[in-house]
Amino acid sequence: MEKKEGLQNIHNKWIKECRCSLKETATQAVAGDGNPDTEIVFIGEAPGKQEDKEGRPFVGTAGKFLNEMLMEIGIRRKDVYITNIVKYRPPDNRDPEPKEKEDCIEWLYEELNLIKPKLIVFLGRHSLTYFFPTEKISEIHGKLLVKNISNLPSKYFLALYHPAAALYNGGMRETLMNDFKKIPKILEKIESEKQEIG
Ligand code: URA
Repeated sequence: MEKKEGLQNIHNKWIKECRCSLKETATQAVAGDGNPDTEIVFIGEAPGKQEDKEGRPFVGTAGKFLNEMLMEIGIRRKDVYITNIVKYRPPDNRDPEPKEKEDCIEWLYEELNLIKPKLIVFLGRHSLTYFFPTEKISEIHGKLLVKNISNLPSKYFLALYHPAAALYNGGMRETLMNDFKKIPKILEKIESEKQEIG
């Protein structure tokens, strides 16, 4: 079975089976979207208003900014995969709660284990701290993290500020863009480490 078909099966299954209580208030599930043969998966926080309406992740203002940053480093959005830790919009865009992350996490694990990316990029602290609970995004953004985590197919992680947080904050925006520009080199480094190990 092709990865694309496998991914569609995962989404179809979880759209039916996900127990997240945000289902009651959200318009629809917002599954991950993009190329399952990618080397990079981006994990955001939760859908916002526009994503809830369209059923696709990062299609609002933050998404447009994300697309611009991808273009800046020569990557087309359709060549990567973008998803969220929580698949339903929290009311009034409040922060997702731990239980809501827990209720959506198996869905994310299945996406990641099918795609098997080289690099997992956290967009914002919500996805970062689920997997690295003691890390602070202000301290480790832009640095390659290497750790084996059970249930995850990659041991290479990069945390970036969330595009929505950086959009209207000049300093953070510049930092985010500079961190983004490190991605191609990080991918090369991962590749060379893999070759060294054999
Ligand atoms: N912010 C997110 O974290 N995810 C989206 O899909 C849109 C905005």
